[in-house]
Amino acid sequence: MDFSAFDAWVDAHAQDALHNLIELCRLPSVQGRTAALEATVARVMEYADDAGLHAGTVRIRANNPPIIMGESDPRGEKETSGKPLLMVYNHYDVQPEDPLDEWISPPFEPTIRDGHLYARGVADNKVNLVARVFAVQAWRAVYGDLPVQLRFVWEGEEESGGEQLAAFTKEYANWIAEADGCLWESGYRDDSGAPVLSLGVKGLACLELRCRTGTSDAHSGQGGLVPNAIWTLINALSTLRAPDGTVTIDGFQERIAPPTAADLALLDALPWNGDEYRARYGVEALVGGRTGKAALEALFFGTTCTINGISGGYEGEGHKTVVPCEARAKIDLRLVPNLDPRTVVGLIRDHLARRGFHQIEVIEFEGNTMPARTPPNTAIAQAAIEALRAASGRTPIVYPISPGSGPMYELCQAHGVPAANFGCGWSGSHVHAPNENVRVVDFIEGIKAFGRLIEAFPRHMPERVR
Ligand SMILES: [Zn+2]
Repeated sequence: MDFSAFDAWVDAHAQDALHNLIELCRLPSVQGRTAALEATVARVMEYADDAGLHAGTVRIRANNPPIIMGESDPRGEKETSGKPLLMVYNHYDVQPEDPLDEWISPPFEPTIRDGHLYARGVADNKVNLVARVFAVQAWRAVYGDLPVQLRFVWEGEEESGGEQLAAFTKEYANWIAEADGCLWESGYRDDSGAPVLSLGVKGLACLELRCRTGTSDAHSGQGGLVPNAIWTLINALSTLRAPDGTVTIDGFQERIAPPTAADLALLDALPWNGDEYRARYGVEALVGGRTGKAALEALFFGTTCTINGISGGYEGEGHKTVVPCEARAKIDLRLVPNLDPRTVVGLIRDHLARRGFHQIEVIEFEGNTMPARTPPNTAIAQAAIEALRAASGRTPIVYPISPGSGPMYELCQAHGVPAANFGCGWSGSHVHAPNENVRVVDFIEGIKAFGRLIEAFPRHMPERVR
């Protein structure tokens, strides 16, 4: 299909699109800032309306920011014309802005410098939210009728654990399951500038280990007799992972579904520059001395067990010779199929109990997510590859799974909806960090890419069996 009229409309209205993005980024939609979250919801609804989408809000918990449902067709109705149904997931909340003094321009005063738009939340992921809605507006202005039925889910708690999403996916299970594919929230270009498509996300288990070895701290002269909570905790932690990075929790490795031949073929096509990667983090060597394909395999198909922080005892000025009776560690594990975070937490409890670490309490956080995988031969994956290639003129890089996480399983895979993600960020977007930014050209191209997905998705749908 010829997209010159569509592209011309988008180029002619690029300032309007940019204005929409800037206005959305002005709103500090951070967890707990109710007025800003409400203003953001109103703004998203307004953009949806401009694109001819029907939008409404859903609250599972009265005081939480709502989930907004947007639809190209009247609420809850499934087209009878046989149009495929594409779901789109984005979030309108953003990470807190601190440390504030590291921002060159204020995080909620969107500023353009050298073709980059700087603002908190612009890359993660307001740019994608706006680009996709604006593409619908462009499509309607240029061609009128859409060849797909669209359903949007915009949530406001992605950055804070998505409290309501699980209940939402149960309450609206049928509405979700009618979708034939889903475009997920975020996405980036790699260092070479090629667009990246990810076919899934890793699961995430966050937990805290609380170790209590006595009722009070002791003089370190008693250190040969009184158990030290920090040592106990360190000893326990060191049983969870081998020095080469292999997770050594009892029963963990046996549950992992090995990558398929199609997965491994995707890996072969991925670029890898070990020197650049090490330079980015200023490290001498990678965990386990991994290089080349082994590094890529660990990144995409490997699991991680990461100590995020550890605390206890005396850390102030000078010395305090004390045996601490309390210590805590926060850890997270990135999970591949078929590791369920709930099962993993149970495995950790059993593993520690078996080794006599009964002083350690394992606390599971809300918001842990399952891993999700989308086969490369699905309509959403194939249409996305085509759309990205057509919009950017470059062959997209396909990640078999994203090393990050999100509730893709809960919203999509659990309902039989394959999901993939691409978006308007780049490798220097500084997501979650100061000076978060996107390149304005990537934003405009992102609008054009979503327009192409609208057209390509129905063509890649097999005979509809639903
Ligand atoms: Zn984020």
